[in-house]
Amino acid sequence: MAASRRVTSAVAAVLDMAPRQGEVSIIRLVKAVSDNRSRPIEIEQVELPPGVCGQWRQYSDHDTFLIQKGLPAWDRTLAHELGHLVLGHQGIPVVQAAKEATEVATDDLIGYMLNQRTGCMGPSGEDAEQEAEDFAALLSYRLGRLPSDRSSIVQVRLGEAFG
Ligand SMILES: [Zn+2]
Repeated sequence: MAASRRVTSAVAAVLDMAPRQGEVSIIRLVKAVSDNRSRPIEIEQVELPPGVCGQWRQYSDHDTFLIQKGLPAWDRTLAHELGHLVLGHQGIPVVQAAKEATEVATDDLIGYMLNQRTGCMGPSGEDAEQEAEDFAALLSYRLGRLPSDRSSIVQVRLGEAFG
């Protein structure tokens, strides 16, 4: 794994915020980051345009991570979007997101906004996508090394979060 020092320390910082008690899932880490910066992060499971896995929207007082409904590797996508946020990338400002929701997204628009490789929708360039991917890979790896199998717990928490 060839993650940059920037990515490595961002992952360490996020894991540092993890609750000292109980299971550590991606969703709990998102909550921990949200508490740490005193700005709510909401997670929503929605129908996104075909080929899109995730999207980060920035509102005036909170952030929202949109995850494609029925996505098998949703936690990886969530980690990817969290990576964008903690690495200081820019999400989609809500004005643009609202405009996009009211218009039928054309192939051109999707081509412009969607990174074909990561399935991430946002204005960030290739470098930012690579950083977010490295972050997600490293975070998943570190979480996977924490004691006990957490996959069933994560499923339960996903139900709670998306309830
Ligand atoms: Zn991305």
